[in-house]
Amino acid sequence: MNLHEYQSKQVFAAYGIPVPTGRVAATPEEAVAAAEALGGSLWVVKAQVHAGGRGKAGGVKLARDKAAVHAAAKAMLGTRLATIQTGPEGLPVDTVYVETGSAIEREIYLSLTLNREKGQIAMIGSAAGGMDIEEVAAHTPEKITTVNIHPAAGLQPHQCRRMAFALGFTGAQIGEFQKIAMALYRLVMDKDAALVEVNPLIVTKDGSLVALDAKINIDANAVFRQPELAKMRDTAQEDPMELKASEHDLNYVSLDGDIACMVNGAGLAMATMDVIQQKGGMPANFLDVGGGANKQQVTNAFKILLSDPNVKGILVNIFGGIMKCDTIADGVIAAAREVKLSVPLVVRLEGTNVELGRKMLTESKLDLQTAVSLDEAAEKIVKAAGGHR
Ligand code: ADP
Ligand code: MG
Repeated sequence: MNLHEYQSKQVFAAYGIPVPTGRVAATPEEAVAAAEALGGSLWVVKAQVHAGGRGKAGGVKLARDKAAVHAAAKAMLGTRLATIQTGPEGLPVDTVYVETGSAIEREIYLSLTLNREKGQIAMIGSAAGGMDIEEVAAHTPEKITTVNIHPAAGLQPHQCRRMAFALGFTGAQIGEFQKIAMALYRLVMDKDAALVEVNPLIVTKDGSLVALDAKINIDANAVFRQPELAKMRDTAQEDPMELKASEHDLNYVSLDGDIACMVNGAGLAMATMDVIQQKGGMPANFLDVGGGANKQQVTNAFKILLSDPNVKGILVNIFGGIMKCDTIADGVIAAAREVKLSVPLVVRLEGTNVELGRKMLTESKLDLQTAVSLDEAAEKIVKAAGGHR
């Protein structure tokens, strides 16, 4: 679960991490009122979307007077902002954050995230921070420093100093940096964060450190024990189909292809996607309906698949173990009748009650094809959906 920048900055502030003062606004008038309340003579108007890359996409605007604040907020609110992190359809800008402008000396990258290979939290930093960090990672990775944190020991002062030196800090900045790094690590632990990113962490013209951007991602499996953060969830920023699927307890991930698949078990779902790809098709989603799905869940899953306008065909691949093949057949038939089936459907059933399931499908007189093996099923659906890419 992602938090907005302004929410992440609230959390930062609670941990004593220095952030600029700012206020959220949902209308241009509120944005002007926010600037007035903040005072000063330089503001930054920032689109609140669950994605980075806003600066380069016109989602971060400097404003030197109230008219400019109004204009920037008006230009952003109610639109969708597409950045390199969002895909072409972008994300809705329902609020902007109006913030006091900072005088920037230099921009640093700092993040903490899970290093899955090591099974440890990694602190990653670069003196070449700011909006071009992706290029730094791609072309000059030697400018990035990583420190792995042992879970039993926690983040150590010597590790903070090592990072501080790599980032070019001197004098009092080293202690300031250590405080920030320690606070970020505590935050990651307390809040079950999968990622905390500060890009940029700036050195101001007078030499102090400020978190100018803030991104927090909470491990979705731990949100239940973070009730305060769960309240911050903004479902308008989420993929509508993934949202619908999560309401029905379905493990669903949207993908770019056009062949929808409904499978039971994550492993079989991955294998199904692989075989579709091998046959020249592109999966439209990952969907694991789970080991014990009922007829209602299969119907819901079917509806979600069919609501994707890109879908040109559906492949149902079920191994009946706990979930019996006749249950699946029942769900498929019910769903296909309820939602007018507008695309080709291939069903491959195997396992418990397979004969009964196949018989039900045949007798339903629905316009569908059946297959015995996964290979055959994938071949059939790729062909029916328009063939090789
Ligand atoms: P994103 O990462 O989505 O592009 P950022 O919050 O990092 O958004 O803003 C992009 C850039 O805009 C920053 O690298 C910084 O140069 C500038 N910026 C952002 N906030 C401020 C601020 N409060 N004062 C001055 N400059 C800012
Ligand atoms: Mg940023």
